[in-house]
Amino acid sequence: MSLTPIYADFASSAPPLPEVVDAMLEWLGHRHANPHATHLQGQHAAKAVQDAKLRIAELIDADPAGVIFTSGATESNNLAIKGLAAYGLSHIFVSALDHASIIEPAKALNAQFGSAVYDVPHDGLGLVDTEFLTSALRNSGPEPCLIAISHGNNEIGAIQRLDAISVAAQEGGHLLHVDASQTAAHVRISAKEIRPSCLSLSAHKLYGPAGIGALWVDPHLDRKLVPQIHGGGQQGGLRSGTVPTYLAVGFGVAADLARRAMTESALLLESLTSQLMIELHQRGLRPTLIGPVSGRLPGHLSLRFPGVDALDLLDRLLPKLSISTGSACSAGELRASRVLRALGLTEQEASEGLRFSLGRTSTPQEVSLMAEYVSDVVKDLEC
Ligand code: PMP
Repeated sequence: MSLTPIYADFASSAPPLPEVVDAMLEWLGHRHANPHATHLQGQHAAKAVQDAKLRIAELIDADPAGVIFTSGATESNNLAIKGLAAYGLSHIFVSALDHASIIEPAKALNAQFGSAVYDVPHDGLGLVDTEFLTSALRNSGPEPCLIAISHGNNEIGAIQRLDAISVAAQEGGHLLHVDASQTAAHVRISAKEIRPSCLSLSAHKLYGPAGIGALWVDPHLDRKLVPQIHGGGQQGGLRSGTVPTYLAVGFGVAADLARRAMTESALLLESLTSQLMIELHQRGLRPTLIGPVSGRLPGHLSLRFPGVDALDLLDRLLPKLSISTGSACSAGELRASRVLRALGLTEQEASEGLRFSLGRTSTPQEVSLMAEYVSDVVKDLEC
């Protein structure tokens, strides 16, 4: 009999909670209807979609009128960056630590319209240099710039200082896009305080279904967001296509649960990650933490075991443990993570990077087993 591996890859995708699945099943089954249709079933579906928007807006303390459903944070980031820049933005500020769905749209704008893309430096541990950003924005000339930032880093768990970034953006009337897909379940975010132009969310990062996300767009933005998907004009013409009611409902329930459980969940995750570090040490391992010591995503540990290749470790752990490495296969070639390399790690060090990301359903028993499995394999590989 084969056992299911312990799941410790919640930063990649957090399995939907039972309440989320139950709520979705109803709308996937007998209540199914197109929420844009005018008949009675359509109206009920539209009401369910509207309720989901209210719950999502509440999670980020934002005006619900700004919520647009997308297929996920990748689409949201593309819509925000390309949609804001379409009327000609000459300066875009990103960081080498940002998610690819921030960096690639910025590069595409550079290639298509010649927008200058600036790389905001960081402190070597994963935090962008807000003083540099402030002074670069002050010297950027009269035109508004776009600052696009991943609030929480999916690979190393660093959480950016959004307050300082928001102050820098507001000072010169610049546009700010925040990708909050990794942080929304863990950190209180108030759009009313941070005042972003746009903010991305992804349901499957907060125990909702994969395949749906949202872009919150400030309803008072003095520039029109240019749609990137054209068609039937749904969602005010900003994102054509039928909103999938069951996914929106699941997203809404997940957002509501995330908001209610945030404090308790952060405490649980912090205690589980401390337990993992303690038990690894008790077993004689000395992992190196990648990223900042504090200001990290709860439940997230980016580690390397010096001298041990992460892929070898992962391969041996595969039947027992599901975690991620810092390597990615691109165009058939395995390369160490771009983010770890940007932090200054050598190719060798970056190839040792492993990400453990625990979730609300992880247990202390699982953590003890993880420590046991990892230490057995590390010791074996070290021999
Ligand atoms: N941004 C960040 C910070 C992420 O971690 C991810 C997923 N790894 C995405 C965007 C893309 O999200 P999605 O899978 O919803 O497209």
